[in-house]
This record gives sequence, C-alpha cells and structure tokens, in this order.
Amino acid sequence: MGVGHPVDIIEGVESGVDMFDCVLPTRNARHGRAFTFEGPLNLRNACFAQDFLPIEEGCDCAACQGFSRAYIRHLIAARESLAWTLLTIHNIRFFQRFMEKLRECVTEGTLHKFREEISRVYPV
Ligand SMILES: [Zn+2]
Repeated sequence: MGVGHPVDIIEGVESGVDMFDCVLPTRNARHGRAFTFEGPLNLRNACFAQDFLPIEEGCDCAACQGFSRAYIRHLIAARESLAWTLLTIHNIRFFQRFMEKLRECVTEGTLHKFREEISRVYPV
C-alpha cells in the first residue's frame, strides 16, 4: 500500500512484491502531472500551450488517442474536471503498461537495465 513511484515499484518487484496499490496516478493527475516512459510531464507548464502532441506518443489510452497536451493544459487552466479525468485515464494506463514492461523484464532477465532507464527519468 502506498508504493507508487516507478523506482519504488521496481525495487518492490526485485524484493518479491507482486501487488501494489497507491493514489499516485490519480493524485498526480489532479495536479496536472502525467507519467510517461520519458519522465513526468506537468501539463500546467506554459511550454505545453502550443504542444499538440498526445500526452505520450505511442500510448493507447483514450486520452492520448483523442486529446493534445495543449488542450488538456487549456482544460486545467479553465478548471474543467475533464482535465483530471483524462490525466487519470492516461496515468492508470501508464502504470498498466509499466507493469507489463516489468513482467517482460523479469521474464527476460533485464530488470536491472529497466531500473537504470527508469531511475534516470524518475530520480528518487
Ligand atoms: Zn495515454
């Protein structure tokens, strides 16, 4: 319970933990933050005002399929609750894909390499 940071999850898996429950995907969404494999994004930032890419290219979630970073930033600025919903959808899908990748890495014996990659973009 309460372990939701990507690096903490990897450390848990390395220690044999196989179930996690945390508010981080929804709490971060409420603060305009999105998880991606390239690192976190804060869509409140002005640099996203004209960014018409999805939250994360290659993500198959409904938010990334239909909405741009710029539009979600507009929704945040307008205090429209759809912003938090879209970011929550993306963040939960991110963690589903993250766990899929973790399972692959355990099977292939590449967990250490994945941990290094994630630690670079999600420093503790
Ligand atoms: Zn997405």
